[in-house]
Amino acid sequence: MSSNLVILGGGESGVGAAILGKEKGMNVFLSDYGTIADSYRRILDEEGIEWEDGRHSMERILAADEVVKSPGIAPTTPVMKAIAEKGIPVISEIEFAGRFTDAKMVCITGSNGKTTTTLLTYHILKNAGINVGLAGNVGKSLALQVAREKHDVYVIELSSFQLENMYDFRANIAVILNITPDHLDRYEYKMQNYINAKFRILNNLTPQDAFIYWKDDPVINAQLERIRTEARMYPFAEHYEDGCNAWVDDEASLIIDTPATSLRMPRAELSLNGLHNLYNSMAAALSACILDIDKKEIREALGDFEGVEHRLEYTATVDGVRYINDSKATNVNSCWYALESMPENTVLILGGKDKGNDYSEILPLVKEKVKAIVCMGKDNSKLLDFFGKEVAEIHDTHSIDEAVAAARAAARPGDTVLLSPCCASFDLFSSYEDRGRQFKERVRSLQSK
Ligand code: ADP
Repeated sequence: MSSNLVILGGGESGVGAAILGKEKGMNVFLSDYGTIADSYRRILDEEGIEWEDGRHSMERILAADEVVKSPGIAPTTPVMKAIAEKGIPVISEIEFAGRFTDAKMVCITGSNGKTTTTLLTYHILKNAGINVGLAGNVGKSLALQVAREKHDVYVIELSSFQLENMYDFRANIAVILNITPDHLDRYEYKMQNYINAKFRILNNLTPQDAFIYWKDDPVINAQLERIRTEARMYPFAEHYEDGCNAWVDDEASLIIDTPATSLRMPRAELSLNGLHNLYNSMAAALSACILDIDKKEIREALGDFEGVEHRLEYTATVDGVRYINDSKATNVNSCWYALESMPENTVLILGGKDKGNDYSEILPLVKEKVKAIVCMGKDNSKLLDFFGKEVAEIHDTHSIDEAVAAARAAARPGDTVLLSPCCASFDLFSSYEDRGRQFKERVRSLQSK
């Protein structure tokens, strides 16, 4: 008898898992408590997959042999509790898809820089003519690609939520870029729970596999003292440190040095700027070297990568003021890196849905570089209390229009306006993309006035 596979969540990953499950001969049922988008409903119907939305038919769900859960569904929801009580195994879509492919897996996690590094790694491999797929939080689901496209290598962005339900999955190259507090609301406000989720990326690595990580990250180092991995380690750092495989030398050249390849290129030729992007470039280049990609191809791709929308994205210059959209900075650490790469006289727009933030991390940079803060959120009281006495000028705004107007009034020619909110967007916007696009529209409309 074929097994009963229940998929919870009818988004990209759920629909992909449903298609793969059906292809493998399972009885598939997909259930979503919210509303499934029309485009996905259509696919499910075309594929002949049974689905429901707006409810969970518990009897049907509890008849599952295995459940594939969307990373967005918290384990504390009633449906997940009922499934746990019945002892039904719950896995992520990546875990499920990984069972049906022998492709090489480059898996990237971290608190910040995942998408940038994933897209950059993908760009390098694609540029070198590899049959590579892009999966995880970006691009199409891994499951759909395993079912229909069959790539030789996948570059996969993994959030801590995805990693939570991964057990036997094996990465060939695992990357942890950094670990700083994020999503603590989902981890009972315990940092160690979040760290443990991230480190699941190392589960099942063998001596043939590689672990790439930032050597100066105190959280990663502390965790490495507690756990063991058999994988070969490839640490990277800004300057040479004992045992490093990537660094910048005294002549400002990026050095990548692995048993397979050594590569050198002037740092100034990297297309992505800022210290954080140096790290992202190192992680991507190390992955490519480990996969034996030709040095010339790696250098070329590191130099012509176009960057990613909403990540330190230059928007426009209006009346001599540069506007930068970093809407994806949804935690304090990513704002730190944004400020680190800014000149003095920056007007900083921040605020939104606070995830338990501690703003003291950015305070020194704010004092050094920020001339005015524009708070943009439904409730700005925490920001006003924290920064009120620290900056010369602070504004309390509650919409993108008010915020852009206040930033414009505060900025003088030569200044920079940076949207780098430290917070999630859901109080005023539907997503960080929506926030970033609205910001860009408002800024561009200033140009035509
Ligand atoms: P993620 O996918 O992990 O959220 P992104 O590549 O989308 O990461 O970048 C998110 C934010 O973090 C952006 O504001 C970006 O400027 C910043 N950022 C990118 N790379 C890093 C890094 N290595 N360390 C810290 N911040 C980073």
